Amino acid sequence: MGKAIGIDLGTTNSCAAIVENGKPRVITYKGGASTIPSVFAINEKGERLVGQDAKKQAQLNPTNTVAAAKRLIGRNFHSKTIEKIRQVFTYELVEGESSEVLVKVRDQVFTLEQISAAILRKIKEVAEEALGCEVDQAVITVPAYFNDRQRQAVRTAGKLASLKVLRVLNEPTAAALAYGLGRNLNQRIAVYDLGGGTFDISVIDIKGRIFEVVATGGDTFLGGVDFDDRVMQWVLETFLKSTGVDLSFDRVAVQRIRDAAEAAKIELSGAMRTRIHIPYIANGETGPLDIDVELTREKLEELTMDLVDRTIANVDRILREAGSSKAQIDEVLLVGGQSRMPLVQRKVTDFMGRPPSKGVHPDEAVGIGASIMAHSLAGASSTEEVTLLDVLPMPIGINKVDGSMHVLFPKNQPLPDYKTRTLTTSKDNQRSIMLRIYQGEATLCADNELLGTFVFSGIRPAPKGKVQIEVTFHIDSEGILNLTARDKGTGQTVESTLKLGKAGGVEVLSGSTVPTAAKKDETADEPAPPPMPLTMPTSGLASEFSAEAPVAPPAAEPPAIEPTALTPDEPSLEEVKPESIEPLPNASDAPTTPPENTGKTDVDPKSAQPKPETKAALVPEQGVWARFVAWLKGLIGGK
Ligand code: AMP
Repeated sequence: MGKAIGIDLGTTNSCAAIVENGKPRVITYKGGASTIPSVFAINEKGERLVGQDAKKQAQLNPTNTVAAAKRLIGRNFHSKTIEKIRQVFTYELVEGESSEVLVKVRDQVFTLEQISAAILRKIKEVAEEALGCEVDQAVITVPAYFNDRQRQAVRTAGKLASLKVLRVLNEPTAAALAYGLGRNLNQRIAVYDLGGGTFDISVIDIKGRIFEVVATGGDTFLGGVDFDDRVMQWVLETFLKSTGVDLSFDRVAVQRIRDAAEAAKIELSGAMRTRIHIPYIANGETGPLDIDVELTREKLEELTMDLVDRTIANVDRILREAGSSKAQIDEVLLVGGQSRMPLVQRKVTDFMGRPPSKGVHPDEAVGIGASIMAHSLAGASSTEEVTLLDVLPMPIGINKVDGSMHVLFPKNQPLPDYKTRTLTTSKDNQRSIMLRIYQGEATLCADNELLGTFVFSGIRPAPKGKVQIEVTFHIDSEGILNLTARDKGTGQTVESTLKLGKAGGVEVLSGSTVPTAAKKDETADEPAPPPMPLTMPTSGLASEFSAEAPVAPPAAEPPAIEPTALTPDEPSLEEVKPESIEPLPNASDAPTTPPENTGKTDVDPKSAQPKPETKAALVPEQGVWARFVAWLKGLIGGK
């Protein structure tokens, strides 16, 4: 068995860490670097490059160099954000069969999972070289504000990279672990995480070895890259004004300016002014033209003030959601490279009324926290068991007739959790029902992310309203949704199939969820990714949690049972015309809950007792009960 590491899979850089002899440390690579650029490229010889090698040649080969791919993961090709990105990204994005985003590099089409897998594989390789042994397990971190689809994609990437993904862990929770473990704290902290591409803010209670997220939120489209863009736009405009040359369509020039903009931005964290000098950027009437401008910290702050203000508005909102005043926050942790900017530190200090903690390293805390979790989950530690209680970052719900979202699981819902709903047929002999599942904070489904469309088929013929299908929605401790259905009359499990679809409620009932790239890119050495998003255990979870006879852990809070009758306020349920359904996979073909040790609690259908899979991340009971037990353990210092 190989070693288990923690991986902070960042938008711009990735970092790996390991616990050895009871101490976590960041893995450094040849040359002493502790991070690997999250960049993938194919050069003119057709060689695939990852990390530093890919980043080094980006300026000369911008159209075949994929950077910041994490920003695209789990997004719909037709979303507004992707539309915007396509205007500034130097590489080509194409649409997959299920409206997912794919990237095209030298005429080869890759899924984002394949790109992330290439980066993860590189991390695995360099870690193995640095450690001198095999690495085959990992805890991989994700922004807390990632939705179900994005989390699933990271899991898939890990598998493609031949890593057993022990758990997908939220970045702020990982940072809290790095900060708090082994210090026997009793604190409420706020983790402000501004990385290369995403911003997260979480309020977390630490009681000894129990880490309980109270509220979380953020913006998956706000990070260092946006700061670079502001500087880049300013340089482009300044150059246009002074020379009349518009470089915004020159991909090589744009890439060079972007790199220089980032370097200037970083320098201005320590200096008050810097010079951006890029020789021979274009040919003018009188010969080659250089970019040569001075950028002051003051100007940088003016260009990016609104971005920092957006983070502060998020902090304010999450504190309110946590029911917490600023005074109740004992410490504020700043993590993510962009949090080194003096303006960020000043604004956070002004808003919170105290300077941030110096207790964690902003670049390393997430990777270190992930390694602690990996060590514990891999069974390597008998003493440092950790209890993590996380929450759902965004509501999950289903569509109602009027297009609004019927929220099944609210934001900040403690995890894991499950709900049941009973659906019924609206026509005589209706054989199938379709249900769309969304995630997001908007009132209208069309403004949220469509996680998928479930089709319940093979329903027995009966007069309308006679067949009742009980659907159980189960969200695991990683925030990943599972779904099962059964016929309440017969107790039989109803076949349910997941389809991905286009956003905005226009569904495509395609039978295959295998991304196009897997078919097009036959030369790719990555295996074809398995069908993606929602997991659907094929065992009878639902029957154990029926409305009539809920079987719950003793003294546990019973699950919330939703009303069984359909009212005008109910979600819209659509009959699927038999001819519109593509051949369905067998139950055994359906994507299932990953078999590995995921750090989540599954329910043993026989006993209906929670069955913690690991020593770590024990979240053995549901809801309030879990919190009570955790609190009690905290008081007595037990595990
Ligand atoms: P991370 O994803 O945490 O590695 O953060 C990477 C982001 O942090 C990139 O956008 C970097 O440009 C930015 N960054 C790194 N160091 C600094 C610094 N000293 N000042 C401002 N931004 C920085």
